[in-house]
Amino acid sequence: MAVSPLRSIRVRLTFWYAMTLAVILAVSALFSYHYFSHNLSEQVDFQVREIARTLDRNRDDILRDSAAAQNCDLLQGLIHSHNWGSFLLLRDASLQVLCTSDNLVDRVLPFGPVARQQVRWLHEHLETVDLAGGGKLRLLSYPLVNNGRLAGVIQVAQELGPLFQTIEELRLIYLVVGPFAIFWLCLGCWLLAERLIAPVLEVTEAAQGITADHLSRRLPLGSHQDELTQMVACLNQMLDRLEKSFRRIRQFSGDASHELRTPLTILRGETEVTLRWAKTPEEFRDMLRSNMEEIDRMERIIESLLTLAKSEVGELTLEMKEFSLSDMVQELYLQSRLLCEAKRIEVQLLLDVNEEIRIRGDELRLRQMFLNLISNAIKYTPEDGHLEIILAMEGGFARVNINDSGIGIPAEHLPHIFDRFYRVDKARNRMDGGTGLGLAIVKWIAEAHGGGITVSSEVGKGSSFSVRLPVAGPAEGKHPRSTILE
Ligand code: ADP
Repeated sequence: MAVSPLRSIRVRLTFWYAMTLAVILAVSALFSYHYFSHNLSEQVDFQVREIARTLDRNRDDILRDSAAAQNCDLLQGLIHSHNWGSFLLLRDASLQVLCTSDNLVDRVLPFGPVARQQVRWLHEHLETVDLAGGGKLRLLSYPLVNNGRLAGVIQVAQELGPLFQTIEELRLIYLVVGPFAIFWLCLGCWLLAERLIAPVLEVTEAAQGITADHLSRRLPLGSHQDELTQMVACLNQMLDRLEKSFRRIRQFSGDASHELRTPLTILRGETEVTLRWAKTPEEFRDMLRSNMEEIDRMERIIESLLTLAKSEVGELTLEMKEFSLSDMVQELYLQSRLLCEAKRIEVQLLLDVNEEIRIRGDELRLRQMFLNLISNAIKYTPEDGHLEIILAMEGGFARVNINDSGIGIPAEHLPHIFDRFYRVDKARNRMDGGTGLGLAIVKWIAEAHGGGITVSSEVGKGSSFSVRLPVAGPAEGKHPRSTILE
């Protein structure tokens, strides 16, 4: 599935980074713009007030009634000594201009009705006014008070041009730097996202190559021990499991078709030969008898396969009820004595228990399980051999052992003998009529009852199959897939 470019992580990541930065920049620009402009105008106001206060402290000198020219000289002296660059204008009590600073040349500072009214009420008045030649001024009209009466007015003005210029510069910086920063961040983000996404694309590409035919391939792990590596390792483990079960299913279907094809080939071959050559009813009867054996064999295989398949999907029901395992073992002993007669195998029963053992389980299936083990023991034990059935208790479990003095199982085959269609001696078992499914069913029955089966064997000496069954019945939820009917 192709990802639309607009929906790709790379585009989304870059977009959201750019948006976040743009918002942060806009907010910080607005904040600092207001902060600086407010701070700078506060500074101007402070300066003009300071000048006015200094002059107020010298009001007696600069407002001497007698000599206006002298007053002006004094004011100029103060301006020079303090190195003030502001515009200054001194008015007398009747608000007439007494003198101005040199930098005003011929101009006079505005003195509107509001300012006049304010100073008459002995209040200072601060305002922003337009300068005649353009630009703006911050103008303070400050009353000079003597004995509670207005003695004069000092006007101090500061040009706002440089201040506005600083603020304007700040605005320009933000306007230029902002988009520039956003551009570089987008670029950086785009490249970073590419690096981050590269391993994901690599894994996606590798995953596309993993099909049922190439299930042994694995996803590249990457060199970083990060979350992605963890996820890939997890997916690889899942592929391991899938590969194993795929192999098992393939093996199973291969084995099943092989097992069914062999009797079919025999059936066909024998039928063809008989149809071509047989003449007498006796010859036809022989062919049908032989065919019947093969049909029997196929029927057994299909029935066993059906049992296993049903047990796997949980469709097989166990009819659970309490019964005496001691009685069952004794009946099995009597049955096996009859079965062993032909091969003159001696059967022994050992009840290693003090009282009758009763268990909960499916009596029919358990009997089928034990008979399977007993018939295997007889099948793989030579004439005049020995068979032993033991019943014992072991930590809350009943244990039934079927021991024989037969041919035994080589150690390398032991881990596989419960697998479907597994046979130690493939050629001989077919002749014996074995399907290779008996022990798989035995294992399922034991586990479905909450127990298990183990085997120990020595070649030439014999084998011992040990079945463990819980006395109280299978624990809830512990039995393999199967339905339990109470
Ligand atoms: P089969 O129908 O071929 O007997 P099973 O599943 O019952 O299939 O047994 C699997 C294989 O385990 C047998 O083919 C045989 O080689 C081996 N086996 C089972 N029981 C015994 C035993 N008591 N002694 C020796 N080999 C045994």
